[in-house]
Amino acid sequence: MSAAEKYTTERIIDVQRWAPNLFSFRTTRYNGYRFVPGQFARLGVRKGDGVVWRAYSIVSAHYDEHLEFFSIVVPDGKFTSELSRLAANEELLVDKKNYGYLTIDRFAGGRDLWLLSTGTGLAPFISILYDFQPWQQYENIILVHSVRHAHELVYQDVIASFANHELFAEHAHKLQYVPVVTREPVAGALDQRITDLIRNCRLESHVGLPIDVDRSRIMICGNPDMVEETRQILMDRGLTISRRGKPGNLAVENYW
Ligand code: FAD
Repeated sequence: MSAAEKYTTERIIDVQRWAPNLFSFRTTRYNGYRFVPGQFARLGVRKGDGVVWRAYSIVSAHYDEHLEFFSIVVPDGKFTSELSRLAANEELLVDKKNYGYLTIDRFAGGRDLWLLSTGTGLAPFISILYDFQPWQQYENIILVHSVRHAHELVYQDVIASFANHELFAEHAHKLQYVPVVTREPVAGALDQRITDLIRNCRLESHVGLPIDVDRSRIMICGNPDMVEETRQILMDRGLTISRRGKPGNLAVENYW
């Protein structure tokens, strides 16, 4: 790698296939690569003579030696059709810069951190949970993961493992994990879309906490329709978007 290059060439360490259209993978990490939990990297795959670049939220902890990502496979997708073919030891390009504002430093005050995700939008929230700060800062952390089918409820082992993790165990009681499955009945999971669950207040009664301006800090990530509709519902209830230098209640990330 020359200093002038904007990216490093990393190698795939391993790949975990969750379903035909969902997988996670770990890569080596350039030791100068820095990011804040919740941020995304830009990944590149070579195709023909060129490189195709896409944004990918980082799943792994900011202190891990590797980087981990969680990906969809889009049928005939320019990027994911190449990415999903990669195996251990193969090359992946990683932009040296870190990107994005889905980070808890966007917020000030508050008592409850709500992490609302659909599909692969879960990714940044795993990295945020690997960070000690939110566990210290908030009284409650509510992780909502909405998917269509039960087999898409991935990372359950990681989520459960915080209860016994040497760093987080003393705060583990703060975490409520709320799986949502919209296309088939699943024991223990809610069965409506996040937008409906907020509109009809089922999410709040299920969790046992109100969503309000003073106590709630809410991150929303994934499908842009869900992100936009949820943002609008919450803004109609008086919550505000966090902006640089003007902290509010909401931070959002659209995936397409
Ligand atoms: P594209 O041509 O990019 O997309 C084609 C269509 O596929 C889109 O119009 C949309 O309908 C659908 N699509 C794209 N991404 C997704 C998705 N994630 N889930 C469901 N449908 C999708 N993707 C991930 O899989 N994991 C991530 O962690 C992730 N992080 C992102 C972070 C940011 C800030 C942004 C902007 C996007 C992120 N994406 C993520 C989406 C990713 O950048 C690509 O869109 C995705 O890899 C598909 O690329 P493609 O070229 O195969 O298809």
